[in-house]
Amino acid sequence: MECGQSKPNPNPLDIAHHQLRIAAEHLNLDPGIHEVLKQSKRALIVSLPVKMEDGTVKVFSGCRVQHNDARGPFKGGVRFHPDVTLDEVSALAMWMTWKCAVVDIPYGGAKGGVCCNPKEMSVSELERLTRRYATMLLDIIGPYRDVPAPDVYTDEQTMAWIMDTYSLFKGYSVPESVTGKPIILGGFKQREEATSRGVAFCIRESLKLLKMKAASSTVAIQGFGSVGWNLARIMHEDGYRVVAVSDSRGGIYSPKGFDPVKVSEHKEKTGSVVGFKGSEQVTNEELLELPCDILAPAALENQITVDNADRIKARLLAEAANGPTTPEAEKILDEKGVFIIPDILANSGGVTASYFEWVQNLTRERWSDRDAYKKLETMMVKAFNDVYDISKKRKVDMHTAALILGVGRVAEAIRTLGLWPS
Ligand code: NAD
Repeated sequence: MECGQSKPNPNPLDIAHHQLRIAAEHLNLDPGIHEVLKQSKRALIVSLPVKMEDGTVKVFSGCRVQHNDARGPFKGGVRFHPDVTLDEVSALAMWMTWKCAVVDIPYGGAKGGVCCNPKEMSVSELERLTRRYATMLLDIIGPYRDVPAPDVYTDEQTMAWIMDTYSLFKGYSVPESVTGKPIILGGFKQREEATSRGVAFCIRESLKLLKMKAASSTVAIQGFGSVGWNLARIMHEDGYRVVAVSDSRGGIYSPKGFDPVKVSEHKEKTGSVVGFKGSEQVTNEELLELPCDILAPAALENQITVDNADRIKARLLAEAANGPTTPEAEKILDEKGVFIIPDILANSGGVTASYFEWVQNLTRERWSDRDAYKKLETMMVKAFNDVYDISKKRKVDMHTAALILGVGRVAEAIRTLGLWPS
């Protein structure tokens, strides 16, 4: 796959393999099963010719990686970003497999990516690109095969286009072909905030262990997209003091805290959180090192590395993004006594709500808001406690515990299914 303006360093797939190795050692995993889990079951690379507004044709590169489906259909987001690489998407697909197993929903892991810069494209160009991408994936996606969802720089409109393209080729409407779609098409009201709601549940449970209180805790959040913005809003509503947020253009800081809704209105008008009244401007790097109790990276991978880990001041790190902290950096943070809620646990509320949406689409039922909220809370709190119990029992950090739980469940499923032909 020919794209990626800058190669991520370290490579997320090396990190994912390293994490799998650690889990394999703890689980005393059969080497054959370890080898199966190391590889993706399938990866499809596609080239996507798109007619641009000026009449020229531009060819974009994309892929869909399906890691493992031993526990159920593949599930995973679609990322539109200029720096997408096949290795990054493969790592994200593997993390998705562990995540679904940690929160115990019947899915395997997948991920898709297209190298493009949506900020520089018109809505029609994005629609043509998305429909072309969906068409190229037709044979490998579907409600019982692989169910896409939004990720970085894709949203409910992207999902509507994928659903429509898939449905047109099938000849009937298939709302269960994607999740994270608009409510009018069978989307789920709470899906948009569910990832952040799940992070907030994990933070709440962590605070009980750390004997901290919401009202006296300050929060810094990197990223102000779907996950970052909703997390900021929920934390503010729950009584925490949100002191810093950022987007790709930079960040803002105010020790007194601010109302994320007002920041969002400012971003709506100006295109960025930067310049919000009464705040001090900080870079995305500086935001991570600000004095705060809770730090939630909610943007991209590799934000906390060996280069800045020892300058992190937060007591609690909630990994809302996928892979925001390198393993070496996590080690440094652990030694400093920072409590880490690992990504495959912290942000699993998103895929859990996607699962709720899919189940409602398949059964043509509608759950009440209250039922859905309660179900999400119950599943997140159970996953949090399962991971915490393993960390105590085995005397390992929270990330290793989450990997032991996730990898262990998938390995057991593979072992039980058996290998055919034998
Ligand atoms: P999004 O596209 O809605 O938002 C991304 C945010 O990151 C934006 O605010 C953008 O300005 C910011 N950003 C981009 N480049 C940046 C940079 N170089 N430095 C700092 N900020 C930068 O994406 P999202 O859906 O909020 O996803 C954020 C993270 O959460 C990703 O790691 C994603 O994989 C993960 N995640 C998302 C969901 C979900 O439900 N959307 C679920 C699980 C995990």
